Parts: sequence; structure tokens; C-alpha cells
Amino acid sequence: MTHSGIGYDLHRLVEGRKLMIGGIEVPFEKGSQGHSDGDVLSHALCDALLGAASLGDIGTHFPDTDPKWKGASSLLFLEHAAKLLADRRLRIVHVDAIVICERPKLGPHFPAMRAALAKALGITTDAINLKAKTNEGMDAIGRGEAIAAHAIATVRQH
Ligand code: MG
Repeated sequence: MTHSGIGYDLHRLVEGRKLMIGGIEVPFEKGSQGHSDGDVLSHALCDALLGAASLGDIGTHFPDTDPKWKGASSLLFLEHAAKLLADRRLRIVHVDAIVICERPKLGPHFPAMRAALAKALGITTDAINLKAKTNEGMDAIGRGEAIAAHAIATVRQH
């Protein structure tokens, strides 16, 4: 049996925060606001994985009211999600994601992101595809006030 799940996330971009995307820090003059490290890609991926396993969403497993997760690396969320899937004999077949922001350019950082995500999920980098889009100057993302990500995960029970 193959299952798929989708995930979406958006964070405000503000000064004085690191820009964490896909488990790595991307050099930029702004960063994402959030209770954890604000890693929009990891959060969308986490929701996609939890969705594929019918395990609800990231807010249920890692509530932003819990001080334990304040400033936490979102790779921990992915490691935990991967463990929950493994406990249910669900193997991650593939994940695909789109990160949407006006700046900075993300493509050059994809190899490092894929490596970090693959390590956290216990899968190979070729099971992870990443894409970057701008919003063509439209809305909050286009004004550089926010960053968003969409993700889809495919898992198989064995
Ligand atoms: Mg988030």
C-alpha cells in the first residue's frame, strides 16, 4: 500500500532571526519568525509525512506552547516523524517540495538542504526533490515579508 500526504507552511521574514531552510542556515538579511527555528521547508515536509501516515499535523506533535520546542532545530521534528513512520512500518519512498520566496536564491543551497534532510529522515538524497519559486512580486511573499513551502510525501507500508 502506498500513501501520500501534503504539507504547507508559511513564516514571516523578520530582521534579527536566522533564515533556516531545510535544516541549514541560508545567509540573508532576514530570517523566519517562529517558536522553533522557523524552518518552513522542514515544517511542510513534517506535515506531509505525518499526513501520509494519518498521524495528524505538526502542531499536535510539537505544540508551539511547549517550551521544549522553543528555538528547537526542526530537523528534530523530522527525525521524530521518521521514527513514528518506522514504528508503523511505513517507509519513506519519496518527498518533493517547493519553497516560495522572493529572495534569496535557494538553488545553490539545495544540495546541502537535501543532505541535511536525508540524514534526518534516514533516506537517500535522491529520494528528496526540492524546487524554488518566487511569487513574481505579488502579495506578502512577493514583498519579501514571508516565505512559504509546499511538500508532498509518498510512503509505503512493508
Ligand atoms: Mg512552521
